[in-house]
Order: sequence, then C-alpha cells, then structure tokens
Amino acid sequence: MIVARFHVPGAAPGARIALPEHSAHHARDVLRLRAGAQVRVFDGRGAEYEAVLEVVARQVVSGRVTGPAAPRPESPLRVTLAMSPLKGDRMELAIQKATELGVAVIRPVVTVRTDAAARPALEGARRDRWDKVASGAAEQCGRATVPVVAPTATLAAFIADPPAGARVVLLERQEGQPPLASLPRPQAITLLVGPAGGWEPVEIERLAGAGFVAVSLGPRILRAETAAIAALTAAQVLWGDL
Ligand code: SAH
Repeated sequence: MIVARFHVPGAAPGARIALPEHSAHHARDVLRLRAGAQVRVFDGRGAEYEAVLEVVARQVVSGRVTGPAAPRPESPLRVTLAMSPLKGDRMELAIQKATELGVAVIRPVVTVRTDAAARPALEGARRDRWDKVASGAAEQCGRATVPVVAPTATLAAFIADPPAGARVVLLERQEGQPPLASLPRPQAITLLVGPAGGWEPVEIERLAGAGFVAVSLGPRILRAETAAIAALTAAQVLWGDL
C-alpha cells in the first residue's frame, strides 16, 4: 500500500503536527484518511518521519510524529535552474517537473524579452503559488527536500549574485556552441534558460563576462519549459542520479 506523504514545515521528532491547508484538504477530501491513519511527513529540508493522524476535521487535520523514516537520497549533483518566468501555467509546469527531476534551487530571472504578463513576478506576485507547486511535487515524487524557489530577480541582480559551481546559459541560436556533455564534471551547476522570446545578444555577452558558458540543446528550438526539463534531465544523466 502506498503511504500518503505530506510536507509539514517544522516537523521534528516527537512533534505535534497540523497539516497545511492544501495538504489537509488532500488528506481529508481526496484520500479520505481517518483519525488513526499512518502517514509520512517531511520537513522540506531533507528529514522524513512516520506520523499518525489523530484529528481529521473540517477545520484541522493534525496528529503527531511517531518516529524517524529514511528519506530518499538527493541527487549528488546540486542543480540550480535559473529561468525567465513564463506566463500562464507554464512556469508551474516547469517548477513541478524540475522538482521531480531533482532540482535543488529555482531562481526566476527577468530578462529583456521576458513576457510582460510574467513580469509581476518581480513584485513577488506568484511566489506563494510557486512554493505550493514545489511542495506538492515533492510530496508526489517522494523527495523529503523541497526546492527553494528564490525571489524573482533581474538578470543584472542575478549576475551580481551567481550560485556556486559551473555556470551554463542555454542558447537557442545555432552558433556552434557545444553540448552540455562537453563540460567537465561539476558537483554543482546552474542552468540558465531564456524567455520564450530568446536572448538579446548583449545579455549573452554580459553572461559570458560573468563566466557563463553558452551551451546547445541540439538543433531544434525548444520551448523554454521544454529546454528547462531537457537541460535538467541531461545534467542528471551525465553527472547526477538519473
Ligand atoms: N524565440 C526564440 C526561441 C527561444 S526558446 C527563437 O525563436 O529563436 C526559449 C529558451 O529555451 C532559449 O532562450 C534557450 O535558453 C532555450 N532553448 C531552446 N532551444 C534551445 C536549444 N536548441 N539549445 C539551447 N537552448 C535552447
């Protein structure tokens, strides 16, 4: 039998737990769990526990941690996915798939050609929603670690504060840039995907100046969300756990 798993920030040995609203709804109304149900909870930072539900009510679903549980291992490759926020539900799709594919951090980055409809992300408009998507994807795919979705930044701010490790910008133009597989094996890597409108040449120059290597994902133009999924998959095959 598959044991239901819930992301409960703050879960700890012996703790009393209350499921967050969306998880409580899922437990009560979708899975139809009852008081006494054995479940798993994870804190989103890599720790997982056995737990029992004691109250399943309309206002609250709560219980307590009964013991430790072994979390699934995280990928040995620490991947940061940096990408232009996309409009509609495409960003949510990218966050969900990236979580399933073991991403460690997601950094939304607004570029010159970022769609106007996705720009309110700079004011934090989508942040709660994106956190929930990452949390729900971790619940579903068995990770005890929920990727951090960083606040949306401009490209200039991102370049000024780059993550540690190898730096790659996925470039759609066919200018003879090498494939991902040609890079030396990294322990941490940042994959930067451009917006649906593509990169401005001046942005690629600035990124090159900041140590970002332009890399190709093959001869076809991929949608941004496809490029994110493909790049992450390739990195996990080459150097991670896929
Ligand atoms: N509007 C652009 C395509 C942008 S695709 C055009 O028509 O040329 C969106 C993003 O996905 C790109 O900025 C790039 O980061 C990534 N991408 C898409 N296809 C790619 C490829 N073949 N190689 C590398 N990156 C790619």
